[in-house]
Amino acid sequence: MIQFEGVSKWYKKYQALNNICGEVHDGEVLVVCGPSGSGKSTMIRTINRLEEIQRGTIRVQGKDITDEKLDINRLRAGIGFVFQQFNLFPHLSVKDNIALSPIKVGGMARKEAYELAEELLRKVGLEEKLNAMPSNLSGGQQQRVAIARALAQKPPLILFDEPTSALDPEMVGEVLNVMKTLAADGMTMICVTHEMNFAREVADRVWFMDRGEILEDAPPEEFFVHPRHERAKKFLSEIV
Ligand code: ATP
Ligand code: MG
Repeated sequence: MIQFEGVSKWYKKYQALNNICGEVHDGEVLVVCGPSGSGKSTMIRTINRLEEIQRGTIRVQGKDITDEKLDINRLRAGIGFVFQQFNLFPHLSVKDNIALSPIKVGGMARKEAYELAEELLRKVGLEEKLNAMPSNLSGGQQQRVAIARALAQKPPLILFDEPTSALDPEMVGEVLNVMKTLAADGMTMICVTHEMNFAREVADRVWFMDRGEILEDAPPEEFFVHPRHERAKKFLSEIV
């Protein structure tokens, strides 16, 4: 479903990604970890072209996303993205946050979009917040709304960039539980996260990145038990 082939990226002279190669198959959960500044956000943002690459190829469902003829809005509509900061529209109710893009981008009828919003809110356990404003929700609730919004266009793939890092500790679990449900439903997911218990339980593969490179690409049982690189061992000893 997603293939990286020799992907490199520079911010001016600074090389942020160095020859990234790897694959994520349909229905798989990939967890990406690594120290601050190692290129995790840059990597995940290249998949929907929030960051452009200078070398290599990225294919999403067989399509080269750097192709000039690619419709970038269509690419983005097919990929859910959940950020560290929830990025809900503050002036829109929860249901309008979720229904907006199905209506505006997907051309869905308003009534149908609101029904979908309700269904998705049920999925993330927030059906009673349909008419609430984002500012009246806790961080964990806002992030669950952000996940519902990402699901609204029924993307086959969702990217998460540290979705729980901005949350108070007691709210981390509720967001991870929603992510676990999605994984169990067979959603293809790429998750940048420091939640190593989540990685152990849910990931099919783990990438460990350092200095723009993937140093380890292994199933969790292998990565956590036998990390091959010193830098990965050090990272794990500091984080766990
Ligand atoms: P963190 O764990 O802190 O989120 P990260 O692994 O996500 O880190 P990136 O944000 O991908 O790291 O950054 C990788 C490198 O690229 C860093 O050295 C960063 O300073 C640099 N970088 C990121 N964005 C830009 C930018 N817009 N312009 C220049 N350099 C950038
Ligand atoms: Mg980051």
